[in-house]
Amino acid sequence: MARPDGHLEEEKVFKDPVHRYIHVRDELIWELIAAREFQRLRRIRQLGTTYLTFHGAEHSRFTHSLGVYEIMRRMVENLEKKMTWDPDERLVCLAAALLHDIGHGPFSHSFEKVFQTDHEEWTQAIITGDSEVNAVLSRMGEDFAGRVADVIAKTYDNKLIVSLISSQIDADRMDYLLRDAFYTGVSYGQFDMERLLRVMRPEEDQAVFKHSGMHAVEDYILSRYQMYWQVYFHPVTRSAEVILSRILNRARELLEENYEFRQQPVHFVSLFNATMTLEDYVRLDESIIFYYFQEWVKETDPILSDLCTRFMDRHLFKYVECDPSQQMLIWPELQELFRKIGLHPSYYLVIDSSSDLPYDFYRPGEKDERMPIHLQMPDGSLRELSRESDIVEAISGKKRTDHKLYFPADLLEDQTTFAEEKQRILTLLHQQEGS
Ligand code: CA
Repeated sequence: MARPDGHLEEEKVFKDPVHRYIHVRDELIWELIAAREFQRLRRIRQLGTTYLTFHGAEHSRFTHSLGVYEIMRRMVENLEKKMTWDPDERLVCLAAALLHDIGHGPFSHSFEKVFQTDHEEWTQAIITGDSEVNAVLSRMGEDFAGRVADVIAKTYDNKLIVSLISSQIDADRMDYLLRDAFYTGVSYGQFDMERLLRVMRPEEDQAVFKHSGMHAVEDYILSRYQMYWQVYFHPVTRSAEVILSRILNRARELLEENYEFRQQPVHFVSLFNATMTLEDYVRLDESIIFYYFQEWVKETDPILSDLCTRFMDRHLFKYVECDPSQQMLIWPELQELFRKIGLHPSYYLVIDSSSDLPYDFYRPGEKDERMPIHLQMPDGSLRELSRESDIVEAISGKKRTDHKLYFPADLLEDQTTFAEEKQRILTLLHQQEGS
């Protein structure tokens, strides 16, 4: 039951291992959490295949979304002490924080690559289309759902609100760094969020940080840098992603060739031919994907069956570091050797690259959506973070990319057949690493 001001009779709380408690006092938020599109996020892992590397990383997008909402709730509470705004804006902020990931599907990264779908488009579709989430939002007024969607799409006219949810230091990043560090068990992601929230100050188009809180901001930037390389781009996780995307590619290829599946990919057909409806999409989750992979282990197609077995039993590909320019020289020979020993190179010889900018400062004239972080100096003026912080300056704008070549080492090391070819492949691969 809600009172006329939209507040619940009694505040609700969720226990949370990262923020201890998540407080809900608005009926709107309570009802959004209950909507089926939001409940579905319980069945989608926040970190995709990372659980195969860090076994604790089983947390869902549901728990992350609640966390982003809670951080936003605290940000808004702090900022409201320092400014006044239309009371409606508070609920727009909270709803946008809660729903910012609502369009994510199962194993989003692989799915988006293979099917050219975009979770941001699905987010817009769920918020503004025919959904329970939209029905709840629409009770707030005709344009309310559109405003929430605009904040998430970064097109909302109040840029301060946009910056709270998507900038270089926002509620989304703060929650996932803390939460992913907690569930993976690594210590790199820690930073003093309480302090960051206390030194945050509203400016016209973004939140800035009091100069005295600079070290807390530095700590946050460094934790981000560490988490990227230690957790998000972990080569074992990427190996699992490589196999996952190859499974989806293989299934699509087989479907196009009219292969007779024992287990038809009925849930994927509309994805494969790009006719997926909102209703189809909302029904997809990771348990469905696992069901197919489990069933496809028994398929007669040796590639699909082998890749699914690898994924389910965690027999992943091994990797060597590679330099793409060097590697072009040996690529034709490698592919030829793979074909000769009966391994399809498109599925068993895969280059994967990752890169990240730990902190990007403003570069005039460059098209870049990432707004720099600003410090508020004692005289009230604003200074870009990397001009004040030596640590941040040292890692600013430095793009680090690494390339790895993935392959099934177990099949190459078993040299009962094609011993000569396999030995040659291993030599070529290890030369890569040495070069
Ligand atoms: Ca997020």
